Amino acid sequence: MSTLIIECVRGDIANQPDMDAVVNAANAQLLPGAGVAGAIHRAAGPELADACRALAPIATGEAVISSGFGLPNRFVIHCLGPIYGIDEPSADLLADCYRHALKLADDHGLASIAFPAISTGVFGYPFTEAARVAIATVMSFADGVPCLERVRFVLFSEADQAEFQRVLDEVRKAD
Ligand code: ADP
Repeated sequence: MSTLIIECVRGDIANQPDMDAVVNAANAQLLPGAGVAGAIHRAAGPELADACRALAPIATGEAVISSGFGLPNRFVIHCLGPIYGIDEPSADLLADCYRHALKLADDHGLASIAFPAISTGVFGYPFTEAARVAIATVMSFADGVPCLERVRFVLFSEADQAEFQRVLDEVRKAD
C-alpha cells in the first residue's frame, strides 16, 4: 500500500516553506505574469526570470525545473497547462503537466511537491474537471515516484479548496 499523503489546503503557492518544490502555472515564455506565475516570480526575485530565459519556451503539457531562488523551496517546476477550448485534447495535456512534474520530482529525489490548480485561472479550465484530472493523474503516477512522501494541492479561495477536497474524497471513495 502506498504511504503517499495527498492533501489540499487553502493558501498561496508562493508560501509553502515545508515543500521541496512548488509548481508554477507558467506561460510558454516562463515570464512573470498574473496569478500563480506572478506570485512565484515576486517571491523568488529577478534571478528566477533570468534562469527561466534559458529554459523557455516550453510546450503545452511540458514541465521544466529551476532553482527556487528567493522562495523557501529548493525548486520550482514550471508547467504550461492547456488553454481551455484551444489546446486539445485538454484533459490529456493537463494530465501531461502533472505527470511531467512528477517525473522531475522523481529525477531530483524530491519528497514533497505543491501544485496549484493548473489552467483554472486565466486559461479557463472548468475547476471541477481540472481537479478530477489533477487528482487522478497524481494518484496513478505517484506510485512510480518512490521518493515522494507528500503531494499538496494549494487552492487560492475557500470555495476552490472545498471543491477540490470534495473531488478528492469522491475519487478516494471510488478507488
Ligand atoms: P493558468 O494560466 O494556468 O490558468 P493562473 O495562475 O491564472 O494559471 O491560475 C491557476 C489557479 O491558481 C487559479 O485557480 C487561481 O485562482 C489560482 N491562484 C492564483 N494565484 C495563486 C496563488 N498565489 N497561490 C495559489 N493559487 C493561486
